[in-house]
Amino acid sequence: MGRVYNFSAGPAMLPEEVLKTAQAELLDYHGTGMSVMEMSHRSKAFDDIIKKAEADFRTLVGVPDNYKVLFLQGGGWTQFAEVPMNLMKHHKAGYIVTGNWAKKAYEEAGKYGEAVKLASSEDKNYTYIPDCSDLPITPDMDYVYICENNTIYGTEYFKLPNTKGVDLVADVSSCFLSRPIDVKKYGLFFGGVQKNVGPAGCAIVVIRDDLIRDDLPDYVPTMLRYKTQADKDSLFNTPPCWQIYICGLVFQWLLKNGGLTAMAQKNEAKAKIFYDYLDESKLFTGTVRKQDRSLMNAPFVTGDKDLDAEFVREAAEQGLVSLKGHRTVGGMRASMYNAMPVEGVEKLVAFMKEFEAKHQ
Ligand SMILES: *Cc1c(COP(=O)(O)O)cnc(C)c1O
Repeated sequence: MGRVYNFSAGPAMLPEEVLKTAQAELLDYHGTGMSVMEMSHRSKAFDDIIKKAEADFRTLVGVPDNYKVLFLQGGGWTQFAEVPMNLMKHHKAGYIVTGNWAKKAYEEAGKYGEAVKLASSEDKNYTYIPDCSDLPITPDMDYVYICENNTIYGTEYFKLPNTKGVDLVADVSSCFLSRPIDVKKYGLFFGGVQKNVGPAGCAIVVIRDDLIRDDLPDYVPTMLRYKTQADKDSLFNTPPCWQIYICGLVFQWLLKNGGLTAMAQKNEAKAKIFYDYLDESKLFTGTVRKQDRSLMNAPFVTGDKDLDAEFVREAAEQGLVSLKGHRTVGGMRASMYNAMPVEGVEKLVAFMKEFEAKHQ
């Protein structure tokens, strides 16, 4: 079949150019006679890789000097615990629960301190982003937590909550590098890279210096202290070397292709093609309130389970794969991350039209 258009929510598509570079460098990285997978994380070659990856990331995102960028293991889930362990100085934080991942983070935080549910969209199966202009936030909260793009339910914050001066913490796993952001608005943000950046096995954390504490309770494991990794530039122990290398190639690809502004335009164009058709379709409907629809993950249904299954099956035969929706939403989900070409979305929409015509 060759390469497919992979609409998986994650691990997800990577830019073909990046994969080809990795392929070309696989056996002999830049004359070292070895693969990045085989080299010491203390070698000069790897030191150059991680330093360049961080520098390129800072350029791409516009990370101010008073923020650290950390490349960590343990994915998104570990951050659900690491955030409260490190940031809950006064044992209290506010959580806005807009989906499965926000809920898991909220529950995890409750193990370390008081996690206050500030708002939730659970009443309507997380199909919208609640009004966050005047939440019951109190100054004794150490942070306010959001999941900025809800991978499963397909909602996205287009305006950050009013946190009333309390530091904002965001899980950006599934909108990572999809559009420009203003880093100063966050105390910390993190993302597992396997959604929109690189191969599974690495999370990137961006944290403001003053939130890195060395007065943590004894029980906090060495590896789960931001300070441990910040002091050693993510090289305290063996980092996820291969993941960092591929992320670095993706950063170079993004920089070469106009950075995050150009990426946002491309992602908006793709989402428009998809949602414009969805809005006029008589067979398919979106599950999310219009103004909250994610540019990255688009869930949709026909209303008939058997027809949904038929659609997913037939789409796969056309090289449009991983369109099955999450079990909690059902139907289909099209994830359109940075590496998904416009042509992939055009082909999906063309197939949907064809399918609709056949099933009127
Ligand atoms: C996938 C995902 C996670 C979980 O990531 P893991 O790396 O599998 O732990 C957390 N948050 C969001 C928004 C996600 O999409």
